[in-house]
Amino acid sequence: MLLKNATIITMDESNPVLYHGYIGTRDKKIVLVSEHLEERETAYGEVIDAKGKIVMPGLCNAHSHVAMTLLRGYAEGYSLQEWLFQKIFPIEDQLEPEDIYWGTMLGIAEMVRTGTTLVNDCYYFMDRAAAAYSETGFNANISRGLMNDQLKEDYSDDYRLKEMIELFESYNGKYDDQIRVECFPHAIYTCSPQYFRYIAKVADKYGIPVTSHISENETENRECLEKYGKTPVQVYQESGLLNRPVNIAHGVWLTDDDLEIVRSSGSTVTHNPASNLKLGSGIANILKYSNMGINIALGTDGCSSNNNLNLFEEMHLAALLLAGTNDPSLVKPFEILKFATVNGAKAMNRTTKGILKEGYDADFIMVNNTEPYYYPQHDPVNNILYTAQGPDVCLTVIGGRTVYQDGEYKSLDIEKVKAEIMRIKARLFE
Ligand SMILES: [Zn+2]
Repeated sequence: MLLKNATIITMDESNPVLYHGYIGTRDKKIVLVSEHLEERETAYGEVIDAKGKIVMPGLCNAHSHVAMTLLRGYAEGYSLQEWLFQKIFPIEDQLEPEDIYWGTMLGIAEMVRTGTTLVNDCYYFMDRAAAAYSETGFNANISRGLMNDQLKEDYSDDYRLKEMIELFESYNGKYDDQIRVECFPHAIYTCSPQYFRYIAKVADKYGIPVTSHISENETENRECLEKYGKTPVQVYQESGLLNRPVNIAHGVWLTDDDLEIVRSSGSTVTHNPASNLKLGSGIANILKYSNMGINIALGTDGCSSNNNLNLFEEMHLAALLLAGTNDPSLVKPFEILKFATVNGAKAMNRTTKGILKEGYDADFIMVNNTEPYYYPQHDPVNNILYTAQGPDVCLTVIGGRTVYQDGEYKSLDIEKVKAEIMRIKARLFE
């Protein structure tokens, strides 16, 4: 595939924006990013004229629960603890494997429609989620949620852990590395320190990356301090879970001591501004974290606390919150775009994604820069950050394969997905 006449935001620091540029792909890789074309256009198969369009890396959603699309718009107006224990967990208890498959399919449709090409998806029945990702050509780091109700030292018979290990052995690196598997202890308030210690040993044994909800709201931190006399980060550290870089979702209430632990472990904080605002969880001071050298990524969280998987909205909110809680002059638009691209890829150990560069994966999107609200087109980076809407994406390519183009979903049957979702809704809610 060859794109020509494109305004390209490469996210490569040495060469961030190209005008009237070319992007060439061969198989699953990028083979050309340049303002010059040495070969003939006919050396490529499909040629797309990207005049008036902005091309950039596919967005990387570093924290979500994708099949929660099934719960979109169902429980509004609650704080985290009420929302989770009274509204979400009772419905989740009724979900069946095929529900997860169709909920994930709906999420994939929304993500390719709004420019996301890689997601960190923590949920359950993840073999069915893996099926949806493999069929649609979508990239995902998946994990099975881990929680415990019994206090003991040996969790070798824990069914959730067994499923997690099975998932890792069956799917990690599968479908030409489209799927990777991570380990997802849910949170300090659903897991005991003994369970954390056991999970840390399993993660070490198999070399499984870890992601978790940490210090999402003040109640979580307060209850943890009352129960253990320590912050959540301190409990994770003592259990051995922070002996590796962890993808920390939220991290809203991290203390200075916590931040030092997070920084020295090489961990990422994945900022979920829409979810944090909606559940009244607080606002993470990502400027401070970032200035300490902590990798910052962006996540949408699940669709019940957002209510979408649209990372353009998260970038926009991250920039506005950073300006509103610090100083507008400290917002660096290119840095915010990095949160949703290269930093997200790093959080998921995907070192050949998040940048448009020769040899990197051909995961990119094209945004229609000719809508009236983009004019007078002063600066493509500013337009992407402050102006662009998810549905302005007109082309999504993953691994060199077009999965969405001008209203057409190339790797899924959108009407079938919608019909299945309505059937599941009727069973669960009516
Ligand atoms: Zn979450």
